Amino acid sequence: MTDTIAAIATPLGAGGLGVVRVSGPSALAVADAVFQSRQPLSRVVPRSAVWGHLRDGDAVIDQALALVFHAPRSYTGEDVVEFSCHGGPAILRAALTACVRRGARVAGPGEFTQRAFLNGKMDLSQAEAVAALIGARSDAQARLALNHLRGGLAGQTRPWREKLLALIAALEANLDFAEDEVPDLPRARLRAEAGVVRSALAAFLDAARDARPWREGLRVALAGRPNVGKSSLFNALLQNDRAIVTPLPGTTRDTLEESVVWDGLPVVLTDTAGLRRADDPAEREGLDRARRAADTADRVLWVVDAGAEPNADDRDAFRPRTDGGVLLVLNKCDRPAPVDAEARWQKFLGVPSAPTVRVSAVTGAGLDTLRRVVVDGLAGGNEPDATAAGLNARQRQLLAEAEAALSRAVTDEGPDEAIAPELRSALERLNEITGDGVPDEVIHAVFSAFCIGK
Ligand code: GDP
Repeated sequence: MTDTIAAIATPLGAGGLGVVRVSGPSALAVADAVFQSRQPLSRVVPRSAVWGHLRDGDAVIDQALALVFHAPRSYTGEDVVEFSCHGGPAILRAALTACVRRGARVAGPGEFTQRAFLNGKMDLSQAEAVAALIGARSDAQARLALNHLRGGLAGQTRPWREKLLALIAALEANLDFAEDEVPDLPRARLRAEAGVVRSALAAFLDAARDARPWREGLRVALAGRPNVGKSSLFNALLQNDRAIVTPLPGTTRDTLEESVVWDGLPVVLTDTAGLRRADDPAEREGLDRARRAADTADRVLWVVDAGAEPNADDRDAFRPRTDGGVLLVLNKCDRPAPVDAEARWQKFLGVPSAPTVRVSAVTGAGLDTLRRVVVDGLAGGNEPDATAAGLNARQRQLLAEAEAALSRAVTDEGPDEAIAPELRSALERLNEITGDGVPDEVIHAVFSAFCIGK
């Protein structure tokens, strides 16, 4: 990289500290031009912090600390100076402007991390993990991202890549043999070994699919007839008063969404409009949204009034799900309810084996059990394999393509020449995960999703 970039690396708001980062061949020269300290920054011991004044010409901008890194021992692999200023937007903008006046260019989105990747400081899966870590909304998501940042994915795919490379080499050696010679690696064994890698990829992809809720959050929708207490339950589960609760049926016309964390698992909780026939167009739109939320949720909490007699409205509104994602929630259990209410509702709604929990939105009874039943339904609530769970869409796509190529190689009945390209294609897809041989457009797409300053 020939030019030097600069950006505000912290969010633009009032804060105790704000950081401006400068990276590139003239980072030290730019820094010296905007920073006054006892010793010029270009002469201080690398990786040390120096106190001084940030200036733009004669104007003093702030008192600040400068951290100096020399190439290649820095985040980007280039010379880097980070100014820790007071965290106010005016100060940070003035500091950035001063750097630009002295020859730096304003960095584009993800440009620091892109330079780190291009300079071999991290592979592409680690660069993607930087964005995932910054964007993590729960402890679990942060842990998954950190695992990839520490090289978890490269470590996971390395044995597969090495195996494929060895198989390709053996195959090429086989092709050089004359008809009557015995090849090093007989055909059947070659396919069997490719099959072992294929199965490992398939199992890894299965684990990634099962772990989706840990990655993206478990979508949980509250549904049921009006007035059974969905909004009250939504509030009780959120422990605040996000939804309006009234004794009138049909108050919740829209769907409300909130993110919560249950047992480390990110959960997106949706309160839906009570499901009943509606004539008013606004209410009908609310009902459509409610149905969509219930249809696409991982878990539907179907709420009923435990003490009420089941009636036709409940059955009309209820939509059983073939995938078993329904939990029956018998609400208002602070009031008398039949001892066999569970069995009665299960039978009436035609879901005899649906997990059923008694709760009271008013007293909070049963809510911990309800949370646990929701979370336990997922692999016993245990955190999944972190490397598989942390895969993003690009990485899953590449793994699926590699797996498909290996499947073709394993089942191909033709001559050995035919399977060599499939093995090579699988290897290339795996290499692209860490960024080897990825097209420039892909690299551009990965880094343009970052925000500026990363
Ligand atoms: P929604 O239409 O299903 O969202 O129902 P709401 O949450 O608006 O509640 C309807 C009525 O039931 C309100 O008067 C609530 O105070 C009452 N309610 C909700 N949950 C409970 C509960 O657990 N126990 C009792 N006794 N009343 C409840």
